[in-house]
Amino acid sequence: MLTDTHCHLYYDELYNNLSQVIQRANNLDVTRFICVGTNIEDSKKCLSISEDNDNIFASAGVHPHDSKDVSESYIDDIYEIIQYDSMIAIGEIGLDYFRNISAPETQKKIFREQMEIAQDLNYPVIIHNRDSDKDLIEILNDYPDVHGIAHCFSSDLEMANAFLEIGYYISFSGNLTFKNSHLPEVAKSIPLNRVLVETDSPYLSPEPHRGKANEPGRTRFVVEKLSEIYKVPFELIAKQTNDNATEIFSLP
Ligand SMILES: [Zn+2]
Ligand SMILES: [Zn+2]
Repeated sequence: MLTDTHCHLYYDELYNNLSQVIQRANNLDVTRFICVGTNIEDSKKCLSISEDNDNIFASAGVHPHDSKDVSESYIDDIYEIIQYDSMIAIGEIGLDYFRNISAPETQKKIFREQMEIAQDLNYPVIIHNRDSDKDLIEILNDYPDVHGIAHCFSSDLEMANAFLEIGYYISFSGNLTFKNSHLPEVAKSIPLNRVLVETDSPYLSPEPHRGKANEPGRTRFVVEKLSEIYKVPFELIAKQTNDNATEIFSLP
């Protein structure tokens, strides 16, 4: 049994054939899913998908790209959505200075406001970080009681260690499988009890499917790659990453 800790099931590519997508994932032994919101509208879709499906859980939050578009009521909206049983985290939230679709100051403000919600409600956070290591860790350090995961980890070992030091988990996606990736070297040094797996589908298809729409079932390729990197059996990585997901997200 594997858990895809990060997918966006409400996008048309996946949502229009959701039962087949889930069936194909189940056939690959991927049986639990965390559907991650990127703005209020998507978070509401996450809620309805997770309430309708036993093994799908969800998060609510505003992505750094979307932070310039929040309404005045967005914090109340998150409080409203997150109270349902299937909602298990605040996210994805964070900083993205690679594309800077929202101004950095706006990103930081919205990120902090959502860290406050996580702190208030004692929910884990799903962190998005691209080219913003320094500011990101600085903000996380201001909320020592909040824990969570560094989703789609793409930074260096120093940043991985910074996350580990403050109690966060590191989640690897299909980019771990890409040719010439620096990530296998980083992964090697991370204790297995702090590693998670995800697809970020429909983005980031792993090898050998790179370039095609991604699906949660491909979590399996990330686990296979980790098994190669750590030189331990597939089943061991599967069990450990699954247990880690249960632990950090308090899954049933
Ligand atoms: Zn992300
Ligand atoms: Zn995502």
